[in-house]
Amino acid sequence: MTERTVVLIKPDGVKRGIVGQIISRFENVGLKIAAMKMIWIDKDFAAKHYPVSRKQWVESIGKRALETYKEYGRDLGEDLDTMEPYEIGKKMCKWLVEFLTSGPVVAILLEGENSINTVRKIVGHTFGDKAVPGTIRGDFTKARGYASFMSKRAGHNLVHASGNSEEAEFEEELWFKKNEIYSYKRLDEEMYLG
Ligand code: UDP
Ligand code: MG
Repeated sequence: MTERTVVLIKPDGVKRGIVGQIISRFENVGLKIAAMKMIWIDKDFAAKHYPVSRKQWVESIGKRALETYKEYGRDLGEDLDTMEPYEIGKKMCKWLVEFLTSGPVVAILLEGENSINTVRKIVGHTFGDKAVPGTIRGDFTKARGYASFMSKRAGHNLVHASGNSEEAEFEEELWFKKNEIYSYKRLDEEMYLG
């Protein structure tokens, strides 16, 4: 099924000067760039991308942080003063907003067969130490999952990619106006339809 998904090259990716290398991985696999722009967003906009009102998601990133800490045998309560998943998630949202507004980002709308999953595979695991070589995060980052929390900030992992079709639709509407999205054929389109 042809679908669209949103990729953001976060401020660390832009500042490291690897925008081209990141985009080429998506182009190489046959995904079509339907829209793309560089934009330096403000905190209100970033809070829409990471909404604390999406309770389930906020709780899930908090739970994830707790699991990561456990795995490394560390005490999250010591670093964050709380063990409550939703409270942890809220703190993380604040850090994510700070991170996403710390410089310009490159927002890209990619289109193709099964693009949401394909992009997630190309991007790799959230944490650098878990992401396998060959993925963007595996090739360009190495930080452990808990490391950023020790300095009270979000993990710098170069890219955001929509996690599922719900996120993809929400993010497409948030980041792109209808007249910024282009419809055209790639030369290799028929080849990739299989
Ligand atoms: N994040 C983090 N530590 C965690 C979980 C998430 O720093 O334990 C940050 C990281 O920047 C990540 C973002 O929060 O990209 C959103 O988390 P999510 O679980 O959605 O990971 P992703 O979909 O980006 O792999
Ligand atoms: Mg995600």
